[in-house]
Amino acid sequence: MIDAQAGVDRPRALPHRTLTAMTSTTAPRLTNLLGMSRQQMEAFFLSIGEKKFRAAQVMKWIHIEGCDNFAAMTNLSKALRTRLSEVAEVRGPGVVYEGSSSDGTRKWVLEVEDGSYVETVLIPADDGKRRTLCVSSQVGCSLDCSFCSTGKQGFQRNLTAAEIIGQVWVAQRSVGPRRDTANRPVTNVVMMGMGEPLMNYDNVVPAMKLMLDDDGYGLSKRRVTLSTSGVVPMIDKLGDEIDVSLAISLHAATDELRSELVPLNRKYNIRSLLDACHRYLAKCADTRMITIEYTLIKDVNDQQAHAEQLAALLKELPCKINLIPFNPFPHSGYEKPSRNQQMRFQQWLYDLGYTAHIRTTRGDDIDAACGQLVGRVKDRTRRHERYIQSIQIDAD
Ligand code: SAH
Ligand code: SF4
Repeated sequence: MIDAQAGVDRPRALPHRTLTAMTSTTAPRLTNLLGMSRQQMEAFFLSIGEKKFRAAQVMKWIHIEGCDNFAAMTNLSKALRTRLSEVAEVRGPGVVYEGSSSDGTRKWVLEVEDGSYVETVLIPADDGKRRTLCVSSQVGCSLDCSFCSTGKQGFQRNLTAAEIIGQVWVAQRSVGPRRDTANRPVTNVVMMGMGEPLMNYDNVVPAMKLMLDDDGYGLSKRRVTLSTSGVVPMIDKLGDEIDVSLAISLHAATDELRSELVPLNRKYNIRSLLDACHRYLAKCADTRMITIEYTLIKDVNDQQAHAEQLAALLKELPCKINLIPFNPFPHSGYEKPSRNQQMRFQQWLYDLGYTAHIRTTRGDDIDAACGQLVGRVKDRTRRHERYIQSIQIDAD
């Protein structure tokens, strides 16, 4: 469900992009350069008989300048610009809606190739010094966590690398080009939108490489965070290939409760997940911490005993805890704990030696809470249908 018109300060519906190149039956298929990592871009230039260093030049145009027009890439020869326009393109997702909230949060609804929508949210903090972009990795999600509205939508498909980095590209283009490192339109990226990033590994990793690349978005590895519900083998693979910050959606300290909230726990239990976290930290180039995400749900995981179990569980793991008050959606069957209860939970953890941060909900008036981004999903798993049926049965 996208509540695209509700309660925003400045709603701005934008025209859909032209789809001529994609839909023409006679035109040769153009290679989209947007989602290519440096390595892939270098291979592309070699494949058209050009030198490798062209990759860095074109990456700068695309990701630093936000340019999608080869003709404007003036440090390339005219012949190369013409050649590129014959064989390649820079095609980002179409912006169908852009809104800003009274607290400064901005949201974009983007249309991807098959007409699905994904959402991207830019959340300002620290007096505007930090601007965190919450990026989606899939249309829907197959993992069906019981408290997550994306999970209730079922799974449609993986986003391509171009569609993932395209979210950063659109946000940066909209806020303004990156002229200097002190004034970045996007300072942090969290893979906490729709979808489970480690279930779309092959597209998420090249996109994150671009986030880190100096000719891409130039973000430090501490400022790019992948959030996962715990796909253990892929955490190991990730640590072998790229060094980014890792957030684990834990939500419970016992296997019994976690399996109820995060069904994936039946496959990869808490012990195996924490072991994978230790292995991941051992591979990081510098001293790092895991972020533990804990969605606080009233009377489910918000009692003192839960805080004690959590503290005991995390004793050995270098980590920081983020408490996320449950964000209600219709017929979820769960409730958000009161502010007092949230603070009590935080205090229990504090007394047990942990500083936990309660994540405030931002962009409420544009339906933009991170982790709550919901697109128009064509449900391949028919989960949404079953969910609707169960709601109707409940209502009868
Ligand atoms: N699939 C990944 C990343 C996307 S979800 C993951 O699960 O980590 C991003 C975060 O939002 C996760 O920590 C998730 O547990 C949390 N989340 C999902 N639904 C929520 C809800 N209704 N209220 C609060 N947090 C929620
Ligand atoms: Fe998927 Fe994450 Fe939602 Fe679970 S919480 S259903 S893994 S998006």
